[in-house]
Amino acid sequence: MNREVKRYVGKNPRLKGVMNLYREVFSTQRKLSRDIPDQFPHIRGAQVSFRIEENELLIKPDELEVDLQVLREILRELGKVLEKKGEGPLEGMERFLEEELEDDEKLRGLIDAFLEHDDEELAERMEACSLGPAVLHMLLHISLAPFFWKTTGALLRKTNLGQVPQGRCPVCGDLPVMGYLRPDDGLRVLECSLCGARWGFPRIMCPFCSNMDQEKLRYIFADKDDSRRVYLCEACRKYIKISAPPGEKDEEFVLPLEDLATAHLDLAADEMGYERGCRTAFS
Ligand SMILES: [Zn+2]
Ligand SMILES: [Zn+2]
Repeated sequence: MNREVKRYVGKNPRLKGVMNLYREVFSTQRKLSRDIPDQFPHIRGAQVSFRIEENELLIKPDELEVDLQVLREILRELGKVLEKKGEGPLEGMERFLEEELEDDEKLRGLIDAFLEHDDEELAERMEACSLGPAVLHMLLHISLAPFFWKTTGALLRKTNLGQVPQGRCPVCGDLPVMGYLRPDDGLRVLECSLCGARWGFPRIMCPFCSNMDQEKLRYIFADKDDSRRVYLCEACRKYIKISAPPGEKDEEFVLPLEDLATAHLDLAADEMGYERGCRTAFS
């Protein structure tokens, strides 16, 4: 991770602030994930394959064990990181972390709505908190991620996610951060913004509306660099960024950093009237 941050910032010094924030968030997540007990896979072997075939999530919302006390700790630490690295105190952060967080029912309601991807319910519950909804959503997202890491480790070791024609993560149901082309075989791989799982996705298909009409799918790139592309879908007017890893080893390709480093492509797509279909690692 540190080497990758250095590489990106070396090429574009303006990325320093945002990359350092990501690094700090990530190292805090890693450190605090040690407080989360290891989880044995709740399903195995044939059940895993069955769920993938049936388009069922490998970790359903009620299958993720979230210890509220540990989550509080993570929310507090990450809340502090955001404040420290950001532009100073965030409105409502102190009240949220010191008071509202202590309310079991309130916290549980937020997590459930978040994990269920029930956007309406979540918006309503976030509205009742003093922290702004955008920051709160980001804070929940980065704080729940380590719980998934603990669960996915053993689960994914023997799972083949090589061909999953779904634009949402087959493990947790969240949106990808972006994708890349695997160097050995050209497979298009998407990475989940929440649990970090990677899955192979058809090259000629829109992840957001499953459109497969070649006439309605195209890509653009900037600065003559076609190793970083934006795939546009005319059917749903959304786009996804797909990059080629810089080296041979795609395991070392840190997609959230690549996402931050290709913000100019988001801007270009936005100016053309397309909407980002992916989340960022921070939202
Ligand atoms: Zn996921
Ligand atoms: Zn589409």
